[in-house]
Amino acid sequence: MRIGVFALAAMCLAVIAVTQHCEAQQRMTQEQVLTQLIEEIPPLTHPRDGALPIRASRLQGWLPEDDDAAREFLRALDARGLALCGHPVPGNADSMTAALRTARLQHELGLEVGVHASQAMYSFFSGDEDTLHVADDASTFHDESFAASKKMGCPFRLEHRKDAIKAQFREILEPYLAAGLTIDFLYLDWEIDGPIEWNGAWDSSKRCTVCRENIPEIDDFYAFQAALRKIRSELQRECCVEVVQEYFPEALIGNYSVYPQSGVRYWYDYYERLPEDAPFFPDQLAKNRPWYHEFEPSGYTFANPVVYTWYATWSWYPRWNNDDYRWFYNLLQVGTNAGRHTPQQIPLITWLHWHTTAPPADAPEVPQMSEWAYQELLWHLYLRGTDGLMMWCTAEETTKEIGLMTEVMDAMLAHREFIGAGEPVMFNIPDEPGTVVSGLRLADRLLVRRTDFGGNQQPIRGVVGDRIVEVPRRDGQTWEIDLSRCEVAPQ
Ligand SMILES: [Zn+2]
Repeated sequence: MRIGVFALAAMCLAVIAVTQHCEAQQRMTQEQVLTQLIEEIPPLTHPRDGALPIRASRLQGWLPEDDDAAREFLRALDARGLALCGHPVPGNADSMTAALRTARLQHELGLEVGVHASQAMYSFFSGDEDTLHVADDASTFHDESFAASKKMGCPFRLEHRKDAIKAQFREILEPYLAAGLTIDFLYLDWEIDGPIEWNGAWDSSKRCTVCRENIPEIDDFYAFQAALRKIRSELQRECCVEVVQEYFPEALIGNYSVYPQSGVRYWYDYYERLPEDAPFFPDQLAKNRPWYHEFEPSGYTFANPVVYTWYATWSWYPRWNNDDYRWFYNLLQVGTNAGRHTPQQIPLITWLHWHTTAPPADAPEVPQMSEWAYQELLWHLYLRGTDGLMMWCTAEETTKEIGLMTEVMDAMLAHREFIGAGEPVMFNIPDEPGTVVSGLRLADRLLVRRTDFGGNQQPIRGVVGDRIVEVPRRDGQTWEIDLSRCEVAPQ
């Protein structure tokens, strides 16, 4: 989860304007967050050797003022598998200067140049009259069901906003090109803006003459979803992806929560709720949703699924008394869905968050997913196709979150040749707390891990290619099986 830009801006203003003393309440600064990381996270013991570094919401926003110290700091991050992103904001010269300096130093050190470009994508829904819905009496209206501060308007009245958004991208991209720098990695966290079918959007569109005219079958949720996501995909492709590619054709480009998938979404973002009368697929108390194929028409060049411990998740699976599996099951569904459907040549970079995510104020506490189960999950994500990791968290959570990630990343780097090249071949998700097995295949080699949420001591047998593979219980281990020495499966 990332709190939307406007919400964040509103929060900052509130802090500054109303409660100056709040700043004294021990919020860690970015300098404190980042220096603590270097102090407490050990360097990797295996070379990264071109594997994607970890990027995170907190890995931006500060560098030592002195260039030598800044280089040393960037090198120290790199030794831990971590990479800083520049964060240029259109209309903010200081942010551009800082982002270019980060890029220049990364370039000098031979490190990948990363950019967090969300601010260039906001906002299609500017709040202007000509972006709002139109009622029967020709008055305009908007939908406040996503955020009180955001005027979500009419999906069919955004065409004229495209040029302004493209110009914002050009404004932040051009200086990189002018400085002789390349952008290797660019991500968006574009959330509450543009057409979205959840919350009150369906109701609002049914009341809008423009929407009704454009979606004759508006009472069919699938028709409504497809119409909106088609526009949302076009906005992302035309205004972000194609503009970035004009400048940096090789850049990896992606957006939070946009990834190849099966047509089912197993998670809800912090601002999303299912509209009444919308279809869903029940699983115990989970209401899994129909999901549009937005990745492909958007044109993004990396897949960016979201595997977070959303507060409600644990309570969806009351049939099980295994707290960890109530988390693990859902998160593995999300990760598997992305891993299974993302083509081998598309890098799959997974957003993560371990601490229970976005608990509502005054809501009863739920059991925290254990560190053990979370690290097992990271292994299975790698072995189901994840190539790289990203992470959102609060400032105070950063060191703990990153530490859990780098331990698994380092151990996975012992099998470096499987990252990006291994083909995920095992996708089973037990529908009871039981035995989970995942594997990456590279020619005759199969890298496997097995995790048990119960007492099963028996080997698991399955077919990979034309071979029968037997996976014994080996807690805490990831190991290779030589497929050429496995029994041939009967035809
Ligand atoms: Zn409308």
